[in-house]
Amino acid sequence: MKVGVLAIQGAVSEHINMLKRAGAEALAVKTAEGINAVDGLILPGGESTTIGRLIRLHTIDDVIKERAAKGMPIYGTCAGMILLSKDINGFNQPTLDLIDATVIRNAFGRQVDSMEVDLAIKGFDVPFHATFVRAPVAERLGKDVEVLSELPEGVVFVKQGNILASSFHPELGNDLRIHKYFLDIVKSFLNKQ
Ligand code: GLN
Repeated sequence: MKVGVLAIQGAVSEHINMLKRAGAEALAVKTAEGINAVDGLILPGGESTTIGRLIRLHTIDDVIKERAAKGMPIYGTCAGMILLSKDINGFNQPTLDLIDATVIRNAFGRQVDSMEVDLAIKGFDVPFHATFVRAPVAERLGKDVEVLSELPEGVVFVKQGNILASSFHPELGNDLRIHKYFLDIVKSFLNKQ
């Protein structure tokens, strides 16, 4: 199982470490060839405006959308969640439009730089200690979007088919459960090939 982490900008090495610890082969990818050679892809946190512009400029967005349409699992964290959503509230920014939701950027207030919360997650027996960094929330969810976790501020973890997105950063910590959950989705994709 080979999983790529999109290495345009942002928290790349943290995801690679977590994926390796969770038992996958993990590598940084930044070209169409790189993306076409993996079985799953993580879009890391960072600055969604920058990552969005660069993937458009290099037409990597088209490659990601093609692979997604063929069933490849993709997981976006924070800025990655913003890029995966259909619309961004108040911003006319291109997105990958793979999750039928509107995201609100910096939804916890500009003064809240980061926060940690013990988050209840659907299917997890024990809460997940989640770190949020200038995080978005999702709203106006389409009927195919499954909510895996939400806070009073809004929805923070969703799944739509082969696409997963969280507004928090599971790569900043020691708990491998979210990465393992994603790898299970990658495994079932590979079993269907
Ligand atoms: N606030 C950033 C954005 O809008 C996301 C922050 C993050 O990825 N940690 O792109």
